[in-house]
Amino acid sequence: MIKTVGAATIGPKHRASCHCGRVVLELDLPDGIVDPRRCDCSICRRKGAIVASVPLSGITILQGADVLRLYQFNTGTARHWFCSHCGIYTHHQRRSNPEEYGYNVGCLEGVNPYDLGPVPTRDGVNHPADRKP
Ligand SMILES: [Zn+2]
Repeated sequence: MIKTVGAATIGPKHRASCHCGRVVLELDLPDGIVDPRRCDCSICRRKGAIVASVPLSGITILQGADVLRLYQFNTGTARHWFCSHCGIYTHHQRRSNPEEYGYNVGCLEGVNPYDLGPVPTRDGVNHPADRKP
């Protein structure tokens, strides 16, 4: 549970935005930033974002639903959303847990994700959903 990042305080409802500001989300973060991580899967290694999770009910799109675009690949389970104007990834419905969104910690208003210090990197090459039980 991370409630402060550098000088920023994570509110129970915290806004997030894309770079151009057309997309604005409200995140329910009663426990702050939960489980921030990087991932080395084919898409995360390219985008490089630090991601944390919320339940699907934890993201409300306040503005910009019309400019969000959906990108899907491979099994098509995960739904990756990005702003069609500035290209910034804002959030995605997770493949490992479709009941959750991952969101771009760097989009949280006032938060510099580099102030988190080192964060773990998930093994996305051997995706949890592909592992044998
Ligand atoms: Zn944008």
